[in-house]
Amino acid sequence: MLLFTPGPTPVPEFVRVAMSEPTIHHRTPEFEEIFAKTRILLKDVIGLPEVLMLASSGSGAMEACVTSLCAKKLLSVNSGKFGERFGKIAKAYGIPNVEIKNPWDIPASLEQVMDALKANPDIDAFCIQVCESAGGLRHSYEVLARAVKEHNPEIMVIVDGITALGVEELDVSCVDALIGGSQKAFMLPPGLSLIGLSQKAVEKIQERDVGFYFNLKTELKNQDKNTTAWTAPTTLIIGLYAFLERAKEMGYATIYHQVRARSMACDAAMEGIELKIYPTMPALSMTCVHHTQSDALRKVLKENYGVNIAGGQDDLKGKIFRINHMGMIPVSEISWVVNAVELSLDVLGIRKFNGLANQIFVEQYFKVLK
Ligand SMILES: *Cc1c(COP(=O)(O)O)cnc(C)c1O
Repeated sequence: MLLFTPGPTPVPEFVRVAMSEPTIHHRTPEFEEIFAKTRILLKDVIGLPEVLMLASSGSGAMEACVTSLCAKKLLSVNSGKFGERFGKIAKAYGIPNVEIKNPWDIPASLEQVMDALKANPDIDAFCIQVCESAGGLRHSYEVLARAVKEHNPEIMVIVDGITALGVEELDVSCVDALIGGSQKAFMLPPGLSLIGLSQKAVEKIQERDVGFYFNLKTELKNQDKNTTAWTAPTTLIIGLYAFLERAKEMGYATIYHQVRARSMACDAAMEGIELKIYPTMPALSMTCVHHTQSDALRKVLKENYGVNIAGGQDDLKGKIFRINHMGMIPVSEISWVVNAVELSLDVLGIRKFNGLANQIFVEQYFKVLK
């Protein structure tokens, strides 16, 4: 079965092999050495001066960032399930929350953000996704982050880059916290979250000192010494080290370029067989197609062609399908997925198969790659 969901992504063999070594104790020089090397590689890919690794899925890091960096009022963008989550976290902790709410195919605008900031001078943190995975939507987070900082440099900018980190070069010049998750572009099993931090965020964390398990001050103190506050997810960190080493060897520029080519070619192929790309501003991490027979299509894909892709949630349940582009994916595999989508449309009597999708995919892929 080809796993083509936008998280979890497939775990490559070299990562599985690295993780199959006998478990080592986390309070040992051996593990501390791996931890130290992983921190260096992580800082390199994230581009911020400090990084933390937490034993949690991505949502744990989102929660830790909100509680650590927001004291007064949170401004969050809800263009889907993951943006909505920031608001839910604020609610759970009794943090006042102003939410910019849009349909799931519409990114937050500069005007919406500026209006909210002007109406709420007590906002001290801003949360947004780079890619809102619910509908494969790319927010212009870099433009919005810059505007927030120009308005008030004290506002902490928290960016959920879980489906963007490792996918494209991210501008972190106005970002205080950048969040990543193991099971997306890092091609690891779920259970490890990552946070990149600016110097200002580090100071804020030291000053606020909130929470227990997710107390980032405690984590900073330990991780600076190449250990963790609680038992480290050693196996996942060993896997992450293997992944980051390989990624560095390949070069991030190459990885980003290949993701872009696969993603743009796949979008073009879907449009070429008269399917509609759902978001008005598509992210590179996935191709998200709006189709009323999405669930039937996914079933055929799985049963007839061995391809597992994702559907939609909430209002988009049964109405979209999402194909992953994160990670180091062999082009032969995504090429087969594109073929399989067209074959499935034929099985469902929607469109006769003639190989057009894959023809467009291959042509566009090499055009973008050049
Ligand atoms: C997957 C994902 C998350 C984290 O979800 P978890 O299930 O907690 O790992 C957060 N934000 C985005 C944009 C995601 O795609």
